Amino acid sequence: MADDKKLTPRSQDFSAWYNEVVLKAELADYAPVRGCMVIRPNGYGIWERMQQQLDQMFKDTGHVNAYFPLLIPESFLHKEAEHVEGFAPELAVVTHGGGKKLEEPLIIRPTSETIIYAMYAKWVQSYRDLPILINQWANVVRWEKRTRLFLRTLEFLWQEGHTAHATHAEAEEEALRMLGVYRDFMEGWMAMPVITGAKTDSERFAGALRTYACEAMMQDNKALQASTSHDLGQNFAKAFELKFQTEAGGMDFAWNTSWGATTRLVGGLVMTHGDDKGLRIPPLLAPIEIVIVPIWKTDEDKGRVKAAAHLVKESLLAWERRTPGRLRVHVDDREGIKPGAKYYEWELRGIPVRVELGPRDLDQNQAIMVRRDTGEKRAVTLASIGEHAAELLHQIQESMLIDARERREHNSIRGGITYDKFREVMDGDGAFVYAGWCGDTKCEAAIKEETKATIRVLPDEEFRSAEPPKTCLKCGQASTVEALWAKAY
Ligand SMILES: [Zn+2]
Repeated sequence: MADDKKLTPRSQDFSAWYNEVVLKAELADYAPVRGCMVIRPNGYGIWERMQQQLDQMFKDTGHVNAYFPLLIPESFLHKEAEHVEGFAPELAVVTHGGGKKLEEPLIIRPTSETIIYAMYAKWVQSYRDLPILINQWANVVRWEKRTRLFLRTLEFLWQEGHTAHATHAEAEEEALRMLGVYRDFMEGWMAMPVITGAKTDSERFAGALRTYACEAMMQDNKALQASTSHDLGQNFAKAFELKFQTEAGGMDFAWNTSWGATTRLVGGLVMTHGDDKGLRIPPLLAPIEIVIVPIWKTDEDKGRVKAAAHLVKESLLAWERRTPGRLRVHVDDREGIKPGAKYYEWELRGIPVRVELGPRDLDQNQAIMVRRDTGEKRAVTLASIGEHAAELLHQIQESMLIDARERREHNSIRGGITYDKFREVMDGDGAFVYAGWCGDTKCEAAIKEETKATIRVLPDEEFRSAEPPKTCLKCGQASTVEALWAKAY
């Protein structure tokens, strides 16, 4: 970069812009081991808030947390054939411990279905022991060849929910409930609208009966799979002898679900909301919502604006009529840094509201509030600042979701697209394309081969087109289902 301070514009190189934002806003850094990352406090603060809210939502839907070990006996992975086939290429294997070769190699968990269902098998005897509704917050390792900060790293943080039920209907209901929880979180907290639906067989989780997903559109019109929820059927229960005595007195295998969301969401947040000045964090997830920058030239002014800035902070913290929680406020009264440089830094970091407070403002008993999302400025009296701040944060949160949804719809194509046109779109700016599919995996594979676009989901009813597509995008035969196609991360 010619100018070290400026970010590469998104329109010029979205991928370079993304890396610069992550590094310069100090969300993460590259680790000594290729493909690993260090999550720095600015990034971890966002993840922590995501975690707290999701955790609350899981608990509100009846789940409890537990913790299972990092190391899994290699033999466990081989018990479910599809599962091992799906994960084998990405496994990290421990062969030595304490200076000795191990009798049985251990796998560093890529996901924990095997060890968790092996434990459930021990704990469940009868239908009275069901359902089990457990979540764990953990790290996992998948040896990925191509990595990107937050989006795909060898080790990442996530949560994985694992449930066991007496009937298939209950398990299916659970998988869909958790898909809904993710959607509520992504739209309500991340201001990131998603399309929900089922994955096709070729995109299904290894070992699942059905996989559901939330797919979000990034600003380069590519899809980000933001979370998944799986109806595992009885596949793992059969592999791990997770059996129970039914109410009628017979024996049956339990029905399982698993569902997860990862630190990838931080990358999704950056690519959904960032602009050419840097990050824009939706207020609900911002570790700091309001930064107060006192402005002074003389020493005399310095004393009084600094003192006033801290008083404003106190009055914001005392602002009670606000849900959820207290306002998160920071005073940036560092010396030796010009106000302009501070504005630049807080804009880069995406803090939703900046309050500027200079001697002249103070004389007039007011401060200037600046929105990070729109850049709009307004003067507010110091007495009403709490009320204004709370309302403004609420507005910002809402308008970020509306903007993101409008952008997505503007870049979505529905109805009657020819395959030639589709190829042109995928070679160019990309889009979310809703089109017919005959259901044949050959058409799905050919499209992927020729355009790199995949079926992201078979969208849930509310996202489908009013007029169902009549023919398959690829072969022109009758369409059996509407599919959402896009290139993806
Ligand atoms: Zn077809």
